[in-house]
Amino acid sequence: YDDRDGKIWMDGKLVEWRDANVHLLTHGLHYASSVFEGERCYNGKIFESRRHSERLIASAKWLDFEIPYTVDELEAAKYEMLKANGWTDAYVRAVAWRASGEDMGVSARRNPVRVGIAGWEWGNYYGDAKMKGARLDVAKWKRPSPETIPVHAKAAGLYMICTMSKHVAESKGCSDALFMDYRGYVAEATGANIFFVKDGEVHTPKPDCFLNGITRQTVIGMLNDRQIKVHERHIMPEELEGFEQCWLTGTAAEVTPVGEIGDWRFEVGALTRDMSDSYEKLVRA
Ligand code: PMP
Repeated sequence: YDDRDGKIWMDGKLVEWRDANVHLLTHGLHYASSVFEGERCYNGKIFESRRHSERLIASAKWLDFEIPYTVDELEAAKYEMLKANGWTDAYVRAVAWRASGEDMGVSARRNPVRVGIAGWEWGNYYGDAKMKGARLDVAKWKRPSPETIPVHAKAAGLYMICTMSKHVAESKGCSDALFMDYRGYVAEATGANIFFVKDGEVHTPKPDCFLNGITRQTVIGMLNDRQIKVHERHIMPEELEGFEQCWLTGTAAEVTPVGEIGDWRFEVGALTRDMSDSYEKLVRA
């Protein structure tokens, strides 16, 4: 994937796709001093672009480093990269990390911070699950306590167990894995938040130890507009049995219906379809 034509924005300028390399002694590679964003551009406009840039800067702060660009500079960089590739519809990946420097140990105060922004064309994240409903496995790993790691940062280190859990899920023919948290409550999937429907009301885990996704907040806004009650609360896995519908939200996932989690079954119902279709309309508006 690295040897192809295209442009990537790196440290203030566009470089050839195949030249967008980093050194082996990159601190972020050894010690996960790296944060990132996933965004989508629709019809030439990145949905909630500034909020993503703000979150990137906030994630870096959680990890004790400073991104050397302002929100406005990051905004300009994203559109410069999109324009250079001729894309109006693409996924945008911004990443910031501590580079190699004098310090090759854990401490890295003097190592420069680098920023790169790439993009690619990315259709349905879960393939045909978007129509039929995704199948989820239950991960054996748990989302960690906020006392163990900065859980509200979109930081590379938080994704180690995501990749491991998603690989196990895929080996069982599932699209993704659902995490419980360190207390045993239902948390989120490996790159998406989760919602449930019961008796016309919506229940979603309270984001107190994982990312409060921008798509999640958008969907809650859409439900509020319809005067549908949303309960943000701790959900026990035993409750899954009683829920009628389920969907995932995320920039890449958009609103994807869920048909199965382990032995639990959900219908792809009217509210799920409404959220999925209305989100698509909203991002393209
Ligand atoms: N949780 C995790 C672990 C994620 O990676 C993502 C995707 N960024 C989300 C939730 C959803 O966040 P958003 O809606 O902001 O994309």
